[in-house]
Amino acid sequence: MIRPVLGDEEAAAVAEVVRSGWVAQGPRVAAFEEAFAERMGAAHGVATSSCTTALHLALLLAGVGPGDDVVVPSLSFIATANAARYVGAEPVFADVDPATGNLTGKTVEAALTERTRAVIAVDQAGVPVDLDELRAVCDPRGIPVVEDAACAAGSVYRGRPVGAGAELAAWSFHPRKLLTTGEGGMLTLASAEVARRARRLREHGMSVSAADRHTAGTVVIEEYLETGFNFRMTDLQAALGLVQLTRLTEVVERRRDLAARYQRLLADVPGIDTVRDPLYGRTNYQSFWIVLPEGFPVGRDALLERLLAAGISGRRGIMAAHREPAYATSSSGWTADLPVTDRLTTRSLILPLFHQMTEEEQDRVVHVIATAAGR
Ligand SMILES: *Cc1c(COP(=O)(O)O)cnc(C)c1O
Repeated sequence: MIRPVLGDEEAAAVAEVVRSGWVAQGPRVAAFEEAFAERMGAAHGVATSSCTTALHLALLLAGVGPGDDVVVPSLSFIATANAARYVGAEPVFADVDPATGNLTGKTVEAALTERTRAVIAVDQAGVPVDLDELRAVCDPRGIPVVEDAACAAGSVYRGRPVGAGAELAAWSFHPRKLLTTGEGGMLTLASAEVARRARRLREHGMSVSAADRHTAGTVVIEEYLETGFNFRMTDLQAALGLVQLTRLTEVVERRRDLAARYQRLLADVPGIDTVRDPLYGRTNYQSFWIVLPEGFPVGRDALLERLLAAGISGRRGIMAAHREPAYATSSSGWTADLPVTDRLTTRSLILPLFHQMTEEEQDRVVHVIATAAGR
């Protein structure tokens, strides 16, 4: 649960773009790409219309196509699995670690098939995935790992920003994430050559971007080198993103303080597990989830209703794609034997946690949970 942190600076930045007359993809998108990639410790940034389109591009760039399998966690927003289908491949669902909700070397290994051409590793609700462990399984087999870092801006993996060590990482700037541009996404990449192709693919396969053609000072006739897409971000969005990026550190610190306070208060409620930092990194607490133990006196959905009755809007935990009709009839080789995923998606809920949240508001949330636990 999250509310965007938007202020007068954002409003002024967007107004300036309107007055400049250049509202589509242009200089601010380029500036945002550079600033974002630098903050994330990545070599290149390619802005897109969303994380969904960034994931689509990432799989194309990784060479995934019809007939291939892509290993993904079922426990994720549906866009992760959908990305495989956009390129004609099928997702193969792997189970996750009970504490982090993330893929592990073991669960990925169990899901590999002869047709596996990529793995999409999600940083679950901001909790960094152990990328090195996955790459130890995938690198020797020549299988690229795409990081779905949609939720992970500001999280830390082994002392570096999440995504810094990824060949390809996809980000989201939807208002449900910590840093928003309204809608929008980014691909960060290690290779300059792959970044060039990504820029081309997001703009209709054009040999020269519209912005570059406009500023060239000579007549430039563009060519269309391959079948591309319109996955562009606008300068209006990028102007917003540039301001949002300056708030990221403060926003993450505030969330971490509130999360630590939740953890202290909930430690008194027996059996409740909460999301926490893994040993190898720091989460941005994009979502603060708790898992109800077996035998908790109140079911998950009933607890959500009790919260709602107290004026508190919680949400169910992270969804599981394999339980959705869109994936109920997969032709691929995955089995629905995902016990940890099933437990997390049915027993977990996400508590409200937003920048402006007060201690009193937090106390009321904990009070409802403690009362449900019979304390
Ligand atoms: C939000 C989210 C997406 C989709 O992001 P959009 O920018 O809305 O397309 C993809 N993957 C994960 C894990 C997400 O949380």
